[in-house]
Amino acid sequence: MKTILITGGSRGIGRETAVLAASKGWSVGINYVGNEAAAEETAAAVRQAGGRAALVKGDVAVEADVIAMFDATEKTLGRLAGVVINAGIVAPSLTLAEMSAERLRRVFEVNVLGAYLCARESARRLARERGGEGGSIVLVSSAAARLGAPFEYVDYAGSKGAVDTLTIGLAKELGAQGVRVNAVRPGLIETDIHASAGQPDRAWRIGATTPLGRPGRASEVAEAILWLLDDASSYVTGALLDVSGGR
Ligand code: NAP
Repeated sequence: MKTILITGGSRGIGRETAVLAASKGWSVGINYVGNEAAAEETAAAVRQAGGRAALVKGDVAVEADVIAMFDATEKTLGRLAGVVINAGIVAPSLTLAEMSAERLRRVFEVNVLGAYLCARESARRLARERGGEGGSIVLVSSAAARLGAPFEYVDYAGSKGAVDTLTIGLAKELGAQGVRVNAVRPGLIETDIHASAGQPDRAWRIGATTPLGRPGRASEVAEAILWLLDDASSYVTGALLDVSGGR
């Protein structure tokens, strides 16, 4: 069994990715930051799907937590062959003029610093020149990176722009190390994230206006992530794959 670590694996897109990965034979390190009940439920679903699971609590914005979650996953499940850098947050809809520095700092800490720390730790463990065996890194960006999310969250959109740029640069650094680096850019997906920003109906409200006429399911994003993790995408690196219903 090959091992992956999924940041933000307890709910939403991360949860569906964990369960799908387990059904395809991966052992799964499931990171979460606070919702232990959701993490336990996801671990049970991973085991139900035939996989091994390890729960690793930690904040992706805290360097020591990131190192500890990688260490704990490898100690429990074995050497990593893949990492899904998925944990991310949004804050309530505001114009930029209305945003506090505190809010901006937290969004960039989790979505940018967190992604960079997790990507750095992945590079240190997967790169052949560092004793790794290669592998696949998948980052979860957002269609917001190219849409800008005006009047809602231009901070979040910019943080995902950084994730896109990280994907492009790291793919070039790690190509010769046997490591592929790609990103998915989901559009409007039915998860808790919209309610966390005070708009529980957002995915359906705006999803209805997209070319496919509906929001996406987290399981549909998970399918794209698994394809990028798997050898089926062996000649794909530095790609930004939109999973956004045409939006
Ligand atoms: P979600 O349902 O709100 O789940 C968020 C997950 O991230 C949870 O597992 C949560 O853990 C974890 N998390 C949050 N902050 C964390 C931190 N500081 N450290 C570690 N884990 C943390 O979100 P989602 O909709 O599945 O989103 C997953 C990713 O997809 C995010 O990067 C998001 O930006 C991106 N995305 C989502 C959509 C969408 O429409 N849903 C669209 C485009 C992109 P707890 O359970 O412990 O809270």
